[in-house]
Amino acid sequence: MTQKERYAFILKYFEEHAPNAETELIYDNPYQLLVAVILSAQCTDKRVNMTTPAIFAQYPDVYALSKATFDDLFPLIRSISYPNNKTRHLIGMAEMVVADFNGEIPATVPELIKLPGVGRKTANVITSVVHQQPNMAVDTHVFRVSARIGLTVNATTPLQTELQLLKHIPKDKVHIAHHWLILHGRYICVARSPKCGECGLRPACKYYAKLVKAS
Ligand code: SF4
Repeated sequence: MTQKERYAFILKYFEEHAPNAETELIYDNPYQLLVAVILSAQCTDKRVNMTTPAIFAQYPDVYALSKATFDDLFPLIRSISYPNNKTRHLIGMAEMVVADFNGEIPATVPELIKLPGVGRKTANVITSVVHQQPNMAVDTHVFRVSARIGLTVNATTPLQTELQLLKHIPKDKVHIAHHWLILHGRYICVARSPKCGECGLRPACKYYAKLVKAS
């Protein structure tokens, strides 16, 4: 199977089986999504979703959050990984959005990555989820699943994975392909023991082909 055929198979499969894939983070607007994505680093979406309602109730917008003190906010996110850093990042992010962006969450990657706590992955998530921009956020699932299937070849960094995926996935499908790969990694192609027996991508998967050959 050529690389072109592999991509075509995978994209067609997901289009048929997960046409409405979307983030599992719960949010109502770009501000809430940005807070949730910052909190989600090294943490499950489930845990983030348990935490954000209290934050959004107390800090309904970026102006309110920009006035929060560390001691006010910290107790609301102490159950999440790296609460100290995340508390500082959230307040710093809100302060900068108010001071430099008129209270509007920026809509471009170069602007977003200026904000505390926002790296390339987070900026790609925000711009692809909110604005459907063709930006591919590579987290641990996207990185692993892409390599196993063979969508990437010898990619050793998230950036290499991102660039290889962008080369092959049509622009109008990039934003949803991010969710396809994440959700596949979260529920089927899991880290320790991928559930190949129940995976519809077997005909195009390099990892599975090796398993078959070795058996
Ligand atoms: S066949 Fe196995 S390794 Fe390949 S994508 Fe599916 S679960 Fe992952």
